[in-house]
Amino acid sequence: MARVAFQHVTKRYPNGHVGVQAIDLDAADGELLVLVGPSGCGKSTLLRLLAGLETVTEGEIRLDDRVVNDLSPQQRNVAMVFQDYALYPFMTVARNLAFPLEMRRMSAAAVRRRVAAVAAMLDLDAVLGRYPRELSGGQRQRVAMGRALVREPSVSLLDEPLSNLDAKLRIEVRAEIAALQRQIGTTMLYVTHDQSEAMTLGHRIAVLADGRLQQVATPTDLYERPANLFVAGFIGTPPMNLLPARADRDEHGMRLHLGGQTLALPGRTVDPGRVAHAGIRPEGFGLAGPGAVLRGRVAHVEYLGHETLIHLVMDAHPVVVRLPGGRPVQADESLSLVVAEEAVHLFDAGGLAL
Ligand code: ADP
Repeated sequence: MARVAFQHVTKRYPNGHVGVQAIDLDAADGELLVLVGPSGCGKSTLLRLLAGLETVTEGEIRLDDRVVNDLSPQQRNVAMVFQDYALYPFMTVARNLAFPLEMRRMSAAAVRRRVAAVAAMLDLDAVLGRYPRELSGGQRQRVAMGRALVREPSVSLLDEPLSNLDAKLRIEVRAEIAALQRQIGTTMLYVTHDQSEAMTLGHRIAVLADGRLQQVATPTDLYERPANLFVAGFIGTPPMNLLPARADRDEHGMRLHLGGQTLALPGRTVDPGRVAHAGIRPEGFGLAGPGAVLRGRVAHVEYLGHETLIHLVMDAHPVVVRLPGGRPVQADESLSLVVAEEAVHLFDAGGLAL
């Protein structure tokens, strides 16, 4: 097991493309750190740099206290599972698991011991004699994990490992990966573009966009205190409603102007002159209770059983409201909604949270 640290790491590809820029990020020993962001944001680049499959242009990567920039992949003891996990089709599960160890010239008895331990941990005992084509998608995924873990790496890297599985299986295998990581206590860096996968798996989550780190935080902090507009809009489904805003102050405190409507935010102490955007999550609205009132016209209603999503138009801006259970709301109806002061996020013109 090991600590991982990226210190001011930049990767510029030979064609001039910048994969990641000035990344400062660390993972504690035994942590499951998820890297999330849209396609092309630099997630895989970070994993490949750590695995030693790409060279660092600037900065340092450390495993524990050792700088590994110049070490070969073999010397780093880092294992990687890719999305198109290639198992050897003409080898049984047992041979697939044993192969990475045999390559390292481990004794036959030690190989048998390790393979048996990994198979027991991943519940693969019953299929050790089968070939990959005779396995389900979930079992194949577990063999791929097993092949990475059998080497007892200090860090495991998983790059979109579930993207070939159907939705139901993804959720099952996701839970298995989390349990396995807890059980073996390996430091794990897990890449996904799916924010809900990141939220359910990560001890902490690093959000990337355009090769830059946007925020690193626990799932709760990321959701409740997004550092900027990108994170606010990326984490959560439906996403946070983000609206252009302006603010000033009267004798009662801050007043937030959203289009033609005004919300009193007496508890806010930030400089009103800096406010440029406001964010309210869909569940930040209610039909009753304390708070300021905003009005909108219902465009359409999605009744989902346990909740209802109401799509409103508020001063020409689309806004999504989530209410628990079913609500007898009609299209074209005018709706008054209550917003608690704490539900309002404020951002400056550069997109930073205030
Ligand atoms: P992600 O994993 O988040 O989808 P990547 O790390 O693969 O993103 O890519 C980050 C950026 O670096 C993208 O703009 C991509 O086009 C670029 N990139 C990735 N690999 C190479 C490469 N071998 N050569 C040039 N540019 C690359």
